[in-house]
Amino acid sequence: MEEKTIQIAGSITVDELATALGLSVTELIGTLFKNGIVATINQRLDYETASIIIDELGLKNVKLEKKNTSTRTSDLRRELSDKAVTRPPVVAVMGHVDHGKTTLLDTLLNKKTVEGEAGGITQHISAYQLKHDDRLITFLDTPGHEAFVAIRQHGAMLTDIVVIVVAADDGVKPQTVEAINFAKSANAKIIVAINKIDREGADIQRTMADLSNHGLQPEEWGGDITMVPISAKMNQNLDKLLDMILLTADIEELKADIDIPAEGLVIESHMETGKGSVVNLLVTGGELKVGEFIVAGSTYGKVRTMLDWKGKPRGKATPSTPVTITGFKELPNFGDRFAEVKDEKTARKMALLNAQAIANESASANVTSSDLLRMMNVADNSKVFNVIIKGDVLGSVTSVVDSLKLIDTKGEITLNIVSTGVGDINENDVYMAAGGNTVIYGFNVSVPINISKMAARDGVPIRTYRVIYELLDDAKYEMESLLDAEIIEEDKGEMKVLGVFRTEKTSIIAGGEVLKGDAKPGFLARVIRGKEYLGEAEVASVQKEKIDVKELTAGETGGLALKTTSKIDLQIGDRLKFFTRESKKRTL
Ligand code: GDP
Repeated sequence: MEEKTIQIAGSITVDELATALGLSVTELIGTLFKNGIVATINQRLDYETASIIIDELGLKNVKLEKKNTSTRTSDLRRELSDKAVTRPPVVAVMGHVDHGKTTLLDTLLNKKTVEGEAGGITQHISAYQLKHDDRLITFLDTPGHEAFVAIRQHGAMLTDIVVIVVAADDGVKPQTVEAINFAKSANAKIIVAINKIDREGADIQRTMADLSNHGLQPEEWGGDITMVPISAKMNQNLDKLLDMILLTADIEELKADIDIPAEGLVIESHMETGKGSVVNLLVTGGELKVGEFIVAGSTYGKVRTMLDWKGKPRGKATPSTPVTITGFKELPNFGDRFAEVKDEKTARKMALLNAQAIANESASANVTSSDLLRMMNVADNSKVFNVIIKGDVLGSVTSVVDSLKLIDTKGEITLNIVSTGVGDINENDVYMAAGGNTVIYGFNVSVPINISKMAARDGVPIRTYRVIYELLDDAKYEMESLLDAEIIEEDKGEMKVLGVFRTEKTSIIAGGEVLKGDAKPGFLARVIRGKEYLGEAEVASVQKEKIDVKELTAGETGGLALKTTSKIDLQIGDRLKFFTRESKKRTL
């Protein structure tokens, strides 16, 4: 057989794989189905899943190859025109927990806020700007690990400089290494702030040695990494750190075009009563103005209000400026790119196209090899319960997912989490659920009217809850309804056929003697000749001396009218074994 090599870059659609294998899509979908995966033609399969399926198909001549997609550098760093202007650097402060990130940002903020305009910062902000030497520096707050991961996942490599905070009395720790790796993969410049130098156990030299063992060579030792010893708490040497940030920015010649449509990144979003969606954006190119139309992922809107990071209204935002805007129809996701478009019609169209693209792409997350293996372990006749989980915060989504996975499905039901997400239920969720027999569960989120209409039209069930147990109970109930009912049969009696008066296609009239138990209308009967089973019939009526009676008991003779689904050629001497059959709904 001819050898064949199929290259997979990340994932491959069912359609593409079928074509590459020379199979029909139906055939491939059939094989997936046998393995418990309900796939559509556009569904994306990851490398491992594709190889398992090829094994299943017994295609020994096919070799799969992982095609390396080059690490995505910034989508956001576009080619600049010669009209590009200098912009402030975007800086992320990262490092191991307790090494002083928060303290550093607080001290910088207090210092500069006190020096500059008065007014404390009360609300949580995800980005802010400081002025040093009359020049702006944009700081991104990357508070938790989640945000960190999300930035990476979205390829949102908008950070120019990563300040890695390392405590001089603690040295390089796991999250320090993670920060180093992040900075490198993001192609960002690294500046190390060796913190807590006021502490007794602080050892700058040892910390530098530790860092150089992790690939960061200090400038002082002939390397290329600027390391600034500081005390965030005592406000020591912070000006030097800011100097170094600006110097790095100068060397990097950070620029952006401003005469292009505005673009940038969503860095935070939430709903506020009375305001609707409140979204923090970081502009990376162009100038965003109040009144303009923007698209981000599957949502769009018109910039209704725009505030700077201190909450002061402003009319426009230039590159590297973080702003808070209202006006998005729905909440965009953290890490989504936004772009200005010319009018509402274009905005709506682009959002819709994005929603479709997202639906296709996110399908890939469903069919991973671990899902496949899990599904293969379930009995062949297993049923799949598809769900989409939306929650108000990541934590609630995680706990709903974890709790759902804990429901014991007795190996008969496979829970398939089609997608999860933070925020209200949106068009995209309904798209994904439509046609896929999928229930959308929302926890502490709402369903906009247009979305519930769309869901009703597409027959997509949406259920929202405020109490997690109620959600779980409902999911359990849904899964129970997928279980095959339990069939309970009970023997009732037996009759020997002594006469056959009529046999038609679906009815028989016969007479006989009840040998044991009784014969009643409604009973089912197995027709037995010797050892042979001839078929099943239902007792329609029972007669004794040509009069309808409720029953015939053991020892009595009488007549029966039987209903059958196909013709049974009943003969004298056959036995009718009476029984009842009940189906009982099962529970988990
Ligand atoms: P984060 O987890 O990296 O944000 O660390 P924090 O900023 O919360 O700091 C952790 C602890 O270290 C807090 O108790 C701070 O007061 C303390 N800390 C931070 N920077 C310094 C410093 O420069 N000197 C001293 N002595 N303590 C510091």
